Amino acid sequence: MSSPSKAEAARGNVTVNVEECKGCGLCVESCPPKCLELAPELSAYGVHPARYIGHDCTGCGICFYCCPEPGAITVYRRLAPYKPVAPREIPGEQHAATL
Ligand code: SF4
Ligand code: SF4
Repeated sequence: MSSPSKAEAARGNVTVNVEECKGCGLCVESCPPKCLELAPELSAYGVHPARYIGHDCTGCGICFYCCPEPGAITVYRRLAPYKPVAPREIPGEQHAATL
């Protein structure tokens, strides 16, 4: 079985709404794994909007809390895979009969 790509292994994902981003760069500076950057092209507002480089997001949400523009950043967190829990056996314990 092949190992997952970096994008598949990431625990999070982030999208930037270019219409709301003012290109301040706070999210870029605050992102711990440095997976945000300012795009070289200008938006309709004449600023360089933030964008996700496409991998390494942990879903920590720091960029969301740093961003001064409501609605500019949306962070997605990958759900942990479901792990079934085996029933706990207590020594000497009997199960009651079903009705
Ligand atoms: S959620 Fe965290 S890791 Fe992902 S882009 Fe934002 S600051 Fe970076
Ligand atoms: S902090 Fe918000 S407004 Fe500033 S560059 Fe990042 S997404 Fe854009």
